Amino acid sequence: MIILSVEVVPPKRIPILLMILVFIMLVLSVAAVYQAIEAYRNGSLDLASIILSISAIVLSSYMIIQMRSKPIKLGFEMYDVSTTIQCDRCNYETTRKFERGDYIFKEVGSCPKCKGNLFISSIYREVKEKKRKSFFASSI
Ligand SMILES: [Zn+2]
Repeated sequence: MIILSVEVVPPKRIPILLMILVFIMLVLSVAAVYQAIEAYRNGSLDLASIILSISAIVLSSYMIIQMRSKPIKLGFEMYDVSTTIQCDRCNYETTRKFERGDYIFKEVGSCPKCKGNLFISSIYREVKEKKRKSFFASSI
């Protein structure tokens, strides 16, 4: 039986300094592209600086997308809590998603096998279980 405390993980804040740096990079690369186009108009083609600044734009916008998608992923992890239900008479056991109001030893109906009382035997987080298993696998 595995019992882990169910805690609400506060959403990680995006590092503001990194955010500012990425935005500066984006602005500078846009300015670099503009300068390169201006230089091209004046007759000198600087292909290397055009490629460099375009790749900088792509990289910085990719980073912005990554930073924006992170808090959403963390929000979903909170719902990876499972509840194991056991019968007090036979060995019947079932697992379902954690529901609001679940607690250990709470009675949740009757057993489909023997009509005995069903109770919650454990509440755990799936993410922690997976991490633990992979840790053991790598240490052997
Ligand atoms: Zn039973």
